[in-house]
Amino acid sequence: MGGEHLEREVRIEDASGLSGVAPVLARPGSAEQVRELVAWAYANDVAILPVGGMTGFAGGVVPLDDPCIAVSLERLSRVRSFDPLLWRMEVEAGATTATVQRLARENGLMFPPDPGAAEQSQIGGNLATNAGGPHAFKYGVISRWVTGVEAVIAPGELVRFGGPLRKDAAGYDLRGLLIGSEGTLGIITAAWLRFIPAPAMAIPVVGCYGGVAEGVEAIEAALACGVVPATLEYLQGDCLRHSPPPFLDGAVPAFMVICEAESEAEREAVLEALGPGAAVHEPQELWRWRGGVSIGVRAARGEKLSEDIAVPLDRLREAIERTLEIGARHGIEATSWGHAGDGNLHSTFMYDPDDRDQAHRAQAAARELFALARELGGSVSGEHGLGVLKNGQLLGQWSQAAVDAHEAIRLALDPKGLFNPGKKRPRP
Ligand SMILES: Cc1cc2nc3c(=O)[nH]c(=O)nc-3n(C[C@H](O)[C@H](O)[C@H](O)COP(=O)(O)OP(=O)(O)OC[C@H]3O[C@@H](n4cnc5c(N)ncnc54)[C@H](O)[C@@H]3O)c2cc1C
Repeated sequence: MGGEHLEREVRIEDASGLSGVAPVLARPGSAEQVRELVAWAYANDVAILPVGGMTGFAGGVVPLDDPCIAVSLERLSRVRSFDPLLWRMEVEAGATTATVQRLARENGLMFPPDPGAAEQSQIGGNLATNAGGPHAFKYGVISRWVTGVEAVIAPGELVRFGGPLRKDAAGYDLRGLLIGSEGTLGIITAAWLRFIPAPAMAIPVVGCYGGVAEGVEAIEAALACGVVPATLEYLQGDCLRHSPPPFLDGAVPAFMVICEAESEAEREAVLEALGPGAAVHEPQELWRWRGGVSIGVRAARGEKLSEDIAVPLDRLREAIERTLEIGARHGIEATSWGHAGDGNLHSTFMYDPDDRDQAHRAQAAARELFALARELGGSVSGEHGLGVLKNGQLLGQWSQAAVDAHEAIRLALDPKGLFNPGKKRPRP
């Protein structure tokens, strides 16, 4: 690999706001160059830090204290093959999510995973975090749309699990193991993706409510209305105040539900479920605004801790209400929004980054939130992963024996512990 693709002392930051300096950042241009880098690092006991689009919320790409080589996938961005008539693509890990979505759309297809920073996030990063998004409610998270993974694993082997085939029951699901591994089991260099024909219509229906209880009742009515909406999202009123919806006249509601129908019959069912006052809105304007909510909420105090707990659907109301209570107890403004149909909340604590006391209180609130997720039978992460921010939070959610199995898999695939060390640690 040419020296022009190696850089020293590079600061790396992701959407969590954390940052650190990597002694060396490499930008390999092929899977073979990734293999050579990993082989060299493994032989020389140097830690390896895979870097995607840096939009993660868990600090997964942030260099820690160990000397490491950061490996950016940005130059591996080729679409190796695309067969629209067979609904499939082989694409390198550094291609952006938006590139894949755009190619699908231009060919009458849909690539359903839609994490919110699609112009910047990469397919490799999406796989490494098993990303979701609003449409995961109907279509599932990205693992459902990946039939094969190409990766470099220890001590420097280029391997393929699966490929352009729709079914494969031959071996253990190592493809699935790499998905969601947050760079701790290897570096993903390419993936085989599958698509579906694009739905003929996207009709977002919006319902506004006077409070959490009323809003969650509407969510339950939507779940029981006999159709599967493409999205079932909610926003609690405090985030609406900081990021007011441009398509609503009058006062900001205390709670909002967004349910996307894909046919006229579905629209009627959803309108009835969301109750009087529910209305259809223009999809582009609505989703553009929805994509900016996180930024609007961050701007309110200058910084925020935004988590992604997931709870069983019958505990959704409690999780939303108790997020507000936790914030109040710590004297921190709180709110939440998220993927209601998946029980996945972006519980958020806003703070002034120049006020250390406020920052500590926001962190304490987040720790209490993780305990709440476990208490409600949920997960500390529905879509962002553990990264560095949630290290130690899996124990308690999983039993000791389950955590041992998690660690045994890591050790089997990375015996020297060199892939993204210090991240995705289940134990404190
Ligand atoms: C505004 C906004 C909205 C978002 N909305 C959503 C959402 O709706 N749903 C959702 O799931 N997420 C969402 N996210 C989080 C984030 O976009 C996703 O987690 C995304 O999948 C991360 O991709 P990335 O390429 O930026 O990965 P990075 O942040 O670069 O990396 C994330 C982790 O993956 C590892 N990694 C990256 N590339 C590779 C690779 N090729 N091989 C192995 N490991 C790798 C890194 O080491 C790190 O641990 C959002 C983020 C933002 C900023």
